Amino acid sequence: MIRVIVCGAYGKMGREVLKAIHNDTQLSIVGAVDVKSDFTDIGDLIGAGKTGIIVGNDLQTVINETKPQVMVDFTRPEVVLNNIRIAMKNGVCPVVGTTGLSDKDREEINDLCIQTKVNALIAPNFSIGAILMTKLSQDAAKYFPHVEIIELHHDQKLDAPSGTALHTAELIAKNRGYLEQGHPAEVEKLPGARGGNFSGIRMHSVRLPGYVAHQEVIFGGLGQTLTIRHDSISRESFMPGVVLACKNVLSANGLVYGLEKLLDK
Ligand code: NAD
Repeated sequence: MIRVIVCGAYGKMGREVLKAIHNDTQLSIVGAVDVKSDFTDIGDLIGAGKTGIIVGNDLQTVINETKPQVMVDFTRPEVVLNNIRIAMKNGVCPVVGTTGLSDKDREEINDLCIQTKVNALIAPNFSIGAILMTKLSQDAAKYFPHVEIIELHHDQKLDAPSGTALHTAELIAKNRGYLEQGHPAEVEKLPGARGGNFSGIRMHSVRLPGYVAHQEVIFGGLGQTLTIRHDSISRESFMPGVVLACKNVLSANGLVYGLEKLLDK
């Protein structure tokens, strides 16, 4: 059994991860952390009856007490890097779903992997369908270089654009390079109306109650458009990916960025 702790246990994703790991035969939840902890038994969070595993409020203490091998982190953009540092310095492999890590942060994590010889996995999206959407979009950009991305999420999401949208844009840009899109003389009558600009790719973020995580990549060509769309209609969609990551991170080689690296193995 692989010993796992969950950081951000009270969150929307944290609760789902607790449930998925609790139900897996090769993974064992040994601890959980949330800064908002009022020391609840994790069984009460996932409707599984008392387990004797109490949510702590300090990551270092939980690591000392539970000796995990893997830490799953679904917390907040401003705290995730510090959680990763604590985990890795204690020999615990992070599996990170929290978005908002910069290129510089990823460089630091890569250096930490080398220094500590502890592996790490960061996935902007753990849903297999979203990974396929990204991969198909990267391929389509070879033939349809004009593209815009619309991502739609629930209104409590803190970062925009989403990690998945940025990752999709990075991969598309690799295949088509920089391209100035739209009319060269276009004017934004309302600032931001044309969205964010990543390497010439316009990106639009919708935030509304009712959505979970959705993305449309729209390609335009002569007399035609191609739309590649993915919808996560519940947070369960991320769980097979999280479980796969927990099972593979111990035997990975340093930093793995993107779940697709495991799927293609
Ligand atoms: P949420 O706000 O519901 O939960 C975050 C939880 O983290 C809260 O309970 C909060 O108290 C806790 N927290 C904050 N700081 C902490 C710290 N220092 N230590 C421990 N716990 C701490 O958010 P959510 O909807 O569960 O999303 C969490 C993150 O996961 C976001 O960045 C979101 O964008 C990302 N996300 C990623 C994927 C993916 O597939 N990679 C999918 C969905 C969401």
